[in-house]
Amino acid sequence: MSTERLFDNTEIAFSLKSNSELNRAYLLFKMISYEPLVKVGKSLTNFAINANLPVDSVIRATVFDHFCGGINEKDCLPVIDAMYEKGVSSVLDFSVEGKEVDSFFEAASEKTLEIIKFSQNKEAMPIAVFKPTGFGKPTLYVKKSEGISFTSEEQKQWDRIEERYDMVCKLAKERDVELLIDAEESWMQKAVDDLVSKMMQKYNTEKPIVYNTLQMYRHDRMAFLKEELEHAEANGYFLGYKIVRGAYMEKENERALKKGYPTPICESKAATDDNFNESAKFILDHLDRISLFAGTHNEASSYLILDLMKEKGIAINDNRVWFGQLYGMSDNISFNLAKLGYNVAKYVPFGPVKDVLPYLIRRAEENTSVAGQTGRELMLLSKEKARRRS
Ligand SMILES: Cc1cc2nc3c(=O)[nH]c(=O)nc-3n(C[C@H](O)[C@H](O)[C@H](O)COP(=O)(O)OP(=O)(O)OC[C@H]3O[C@@H](n4cnc5c(N)ncnc54)[C@H](O)[C@@H]3O)c2cc1C
Repeated sequence: MSTERLFDNTEIAFSLKSNSELNRAYLLFKMISYEPLVKVGKSLTNFAINANLPVDSVIRATVFDHFCGGINEKDCLPVIDAMYEKGVSSVLDFSVEGKEVDSFFEAASEKTLEIIKFSQNKEAMPIAVFKPTGFGKPTLYVKKSEGISFTSEEQKQWDRIEERYDMVCKLAKERDVELLIDAEESWMQKAVDDLVSKMMQKYNTEKPIVYNTLQMYRHDRMAFLKEELEHAEANGYFLGYKIVRGAYMEKENERALKKGYPTPICESKAATDDNFNESAKFILDHLDRISLFAGTHNEASSYLILDLMKEKGIAINDNRVWFGQLYGMSDNISFNLAKLGYNVAKYVPFGPVKDVLPYLIRRAEENTSVAGQTGRELMLLSKEKARRRS
């Protein structure tokens, strides 16, 4: 079957959405397409949360329910099961951000361990994930990345971060659950990369279990990927990469400008697109050693990967190639791919409403451009609304 216009089928894309959910999604994307509203909404929400105003229910009924599976893992089960009936797997994502105390890091690593254990017996959840700043303070990652010496107290904290990584990666291998590690800001990424490479060398001995993330809006990532491959080949272990474009572009550019160093970000959107596509091709060319998790909502890149798979004779359900989208976005890619039998997983964020706000604000901000994702979502939602009316 030709995949040329595969993602245009809105009946399959929104098969899990009732008419009222479809209308709510339409209204939501309409609202967040209006940038001033997102700006005001962000300030008002932050104010209301800081003032302890009871805004949970408003947030829940709008952005939260659209972009999150629930406030805890159990809450997410109906969503996970419903999606799996359509062939779409889930990656439960504990999306609490911005907490910098040891008790939180312990709880987040415990949560990751629990999810790995839970995933082992749940076919719908073959993959787990965690965020580097969920396991330790950003300032420690930055110091380590910059080669600045730790105080003895900091060294102890860093050792504990390493233990947390080791604990979850070890369990992932024992339970045969793939484990993705997200990427955040470039100024702390070197420490993450070093640590994850160490984990891959230790645990990806038979196949990729531990996956690092490559943010392809960074112009240095292709070179990094090639170096990593050389090292893995020389030392006999496997690599796993989630490739994404990257979510922190404004922050990256602003910091580079402020501190007077060249921005690590590609010079244009087109350059990022080329870089992303090149990394996908490179991985598919080396599938015997590297597995791919393509985290993207970009249709052109997704079509390209489908074409490359076909060209190289890679089976549709080859476990070394996964497509990933975020819950609440690009269902047209996820559900149409799954219908044909490709491996697809959606990140399903969860956590207490107030604590997942930074994640939700990022989603709203990312979706303010009508030229981008929101335009696509609105067009698809209207098309499906019209189809159901006819
Ligand atoms: C499953 C999944 C997991 C993810 N995990 C992570 C993660 O661990 N870390 C992370 O940072 N992000 C992550 N993301 C978010 C991702 O990085 C993107 O922000 C988001 O997916 C939008 O990019 P896109 O590939 O869908 O395509 P598009 O919507 O086509 O691309 C938008 C992206 O292009 C880039 N871009 C836009 N304008 C320019 C410009 N002028 N110059 C250069 N580049 C530009 C930016 O990266 C922007 O986000 C994840 C996304 C998914 C779907």
